[in-house]
Amino acid sequence: MNRFTKITASIGPKCEDEKTLRQMITAGVNMCRLNFSHDTGDIQGKKIDMIRQISDELHTPVAVLIDLQGPKHRIGNFATEEKYPLTVGQKFTFDSDPTPGDETRVQLPDADVIRSLHVGDRILLNDGKIEMTVDSVAPDRVVATVVRGDEIWSRRGFNLPDTEIATNALTAKDRDDLEYAITKNPDWVAISFVQRPEDIADVRDFITARTSHPIKIIAKIERPNAVARIAEIAAAADGIMIARGDLAVEVPFEQVPAISRHIIRECRKLNKPVIMATQMLGTMVNSEFPTRAEITDVANAAYLRTDSTMTSEETTIGINPVNVIETMNRILSYADGDAIANPYDWSRVENVPENDWSRSVASMAYLNRAAAIVVFARDTEIATQISCRKPDIPIVAVCSENFVANQLCLSRGVFPLYDTDLFAKRDAFNAAHRFGVTDGKIVIVDGDKISLRTLD
Ligand code: PEP
Repeated sequence: MNRFTKITASIGPKCEDEKTLRQMITAGVNMCRLNFSHDTGDIQGKKIDMIRQISDELHTPVAVLIDLQGPKHRIGNFATEEKYPLTVGQKFTFDSDPTPGDETRVQLPDADVIRSLHVGDRILLNDGKIEMTVDSVAPDRVVATVVRGDEIWSRRGFNLPDTEIATNALTAKDRDDLEYAITKNPDWVAISFVQRPEDIADVRDFITARTSHPIKIIAKIERPNAVARIAEIAAAADGIMIARGDLAVEVPFEQVPAISRHIIRECRKLNKPVIMATQMLGTMVNSEFPTRAEITDVANAAYLRTDSTMTSEETTIGINPVNVIETMNRILSYADGDAIANPYDWSRVENVPENDWSRSVASMAYLNRAAAIVVFARDTEIATQISCRKPDIPIVAVCSENFVANQLCLSRGVFPLYDTDLFAKRDAFNAAHRFGVTDGKIVIVDGDKISLRTLD
């Protein structure tokens, strides 16, 4: 009972035997994800039967999630399996001609894609290692310029972050896979590369036309256009997966954490569960131990109150899938306990005495929507203490000593300024100006004197 955050485990070659599956479920798996990008039909059906049987034997409910491949796009073949050189600035053509490719062109088998591209759109290949920009579009070809990358070879996957692709949510393969999967009464179905809320409606119609079993739908968020319409998509779906693998290719990677938090907020409003997916314990594919960063990533998912974390290759092809689940269970159990014990970690007021002056400074700045707090810092103490209230408002620390400015480089939100003249004149306005704060209110702290001024 001490783990609140659920564990979704991807099932693959290294964990689909009965013994390993039983051990993983015993170790804490709550949902098994069967990825139809790899096996299909009866091969997956047998795994579903096995999960149901183990779940019955262990008297432990386990959900079955069918993950449909969706329109994962790949280029065609080159004349040989060799890598073909690319040069930044060169032209490269994608066309509908099935003739094997060379240094100048290759087939793009999916006609929908050529139709959807526009001049200026980016084409990212091989997990973003190659980037091209579209120069011209004709009905049967697209010419692009290479912006990044030095080699290309057969069947590389590609992503189109700027393009709304005029394609159905369900490919012909997905329809076959779903037709089969429905006969096994899965609990959840995940749709890949969702772009719009209608994609969810299409899949729901497909399912309800074939079964009265109440199968729930998860929308995988891995494209910028899905992020832009997250509220509508989450409203249409029953749950969301933050598919960070493709997402980090399609959006600038530094945005993935912020987008994840945004998705979690939206889903909370709409009462929809969220799965945090991909590379959570990635190094455990080859190692018995997670990295410190991975431990923290899993724990942070718990602190964010994500509904479920997910394993991918760690369990499908990793050296020890049971150890992966035990590790995830340990991290989540501890982090859940800590998150529940300390619900207001970052509140400005929690655990700080009511009459604490730094709390008053932070509150004054916050309540007056101040643009900055200017501190005249003889030493590090006052600026550090205000910084520890986490006011989320820049603290400009005007220092009379160089070493004080240097030491304050560590404190969050503090912008130290070593300037004896500004310090001597107590010139808060010019200090704020130096950091681009030119209008609005500022809170000024000089020893025990605290004042509120409006910049002019
Ligand atoms: C992902 O891209 O993060 C993901 C979960 O999708 P898939 O593994 O199906 O590519």
